Amino acid sequence: MTIPAIDLQAQYKSIKNDIDAALKNVITNAHFVGGKEIGLLEEKIASLTNTKYAVALNSGTDALYLALLALEISKDDEVITSPFTFFATAEVICLLGAKPVFVDINPQTFNIDETQIEKAITKRTKAIMPVHMFGLPANMSAIRNIAKQHEIPIVEDACQAIAATYKGKPVGGLGTIGCFSFYPTKNLGAWGDGGMITTNNTKIATTIRMLRNHGSKRKYFNDRVGISSRLDTLQAAVLLAKLPHLNKWTKRRQSLAHYFNRVLKGVLGISTPFVDNKSEHVYNQYTIRLPANKRDKIQAVLKQNGIASIIYYPIPLHIIPALAYLGYDKEDFPEALKASQEVLSLPLYPELKESQIDFIAALLKQHVYSLTHYDV
Ligand SMILES: *Cc1c(COP(=O)(O)O)cnc(C)c1O
Repeated sequence: MTIPAIDLQAQYKSIKNDIDAALKNVITNAHFVGGKEIGLLEEKIASLTNTKYAVALNSGTDALYLALLALEISKDDEVITSPFTFFATAEVICLLGAKPVFVDINPQTFNIDETQIEKAITKRTKAIMPVHMFGLPANMSAIRNIAKQHEIPIVEDACQAIAATYKGKPVGGLGTIGCFSFYPTKNLGAWGDGGMITTNNTKIATTIRMLRNHGSKRKYFNDRVGISSRLDTLQAAVLLAKLPHLNKWTKRRQSLAHYFNRVLKGVLGISTPFVDNKSEHVYNQYTIRLPANKRDKIQAVLKQNGIASIIYYPIPLHIIPALAYLGYDKEDFPEALKASQEVLSLPLYPELKESQIDFIAALLKQHVYSLTHYDV
């Protein structure tokens, strides 16, 4: 048996007719940039996230970058975020000349530890960027209270969490700006790169619309310096064809995650993802913890048995080489460091079968137990 980390071919087979027709339509119309599909997708994402505006962009990274640029974050400003996330979250802060100020994570949720945010705030703090890690919303009530009290905007990195909810409200509309990615492995994936911002703020939406198009409202009459970050129409067509299936796919991810939780329950040495009754986790990743000194051996055993698993993320950002200049010490964020040594994301996608989970779980039980007890 081989079990990939994600099965995009199976997904395509299940919706082939819809996608093929949508693409053919774009090709026939030959309106490859800014076609009607873009506006339609923006409307649907705004509605999904319960926000007034959505602006389609070239990637999730650009969404984060333009969100900060629209908030006029620049040199010597500080942005508070998590050290346990994909590099892009911190990278965009640095690209603007600002400084990422990390706050350690809650070991259960993998999300920023809201109880430690306040002490990281200074006069220079210009934004808080929670990341809804693996698809589980951060503690937004607490973060919103802190942000409100200090009058600091919140930029949600919701790249892994489309359709996740916190206290019944969708992510992307819980802060000042929400950022999404349509990278192919995300829960709603394009056939290449894509991204989106969501907001209820008219000025921010208008600014980001300009910034994505070289800072111009009217062609060749540029008002400010922006970038080129439009979503192309073919990608919008793919996303529109997939969107009606998102809810069903999310439910299937949740059901498989719960199945995994049940079959791994009580296995010594394994901890399964935190189940938060305030939130709907959308399981972009199903991430377990293993004893740090066994994790890589277990991953090798899975690989020998045809099972793909991935370490998201092996190096926390406070010690990643590109950010060494920030001068953080390895021990500054012990929970992020520990997570990077213990996590393993197992295959989880809507087309996965329960029997495959049984197979993965049986291997884990056999090997985690023997490695833990007899140290082979
Ligand atoms: C995927 C991802 C991004 C970047 O999105 P791209 O579309 O790949 O640029 C940013 N942050 C997080 C947490 C992500 O998972």
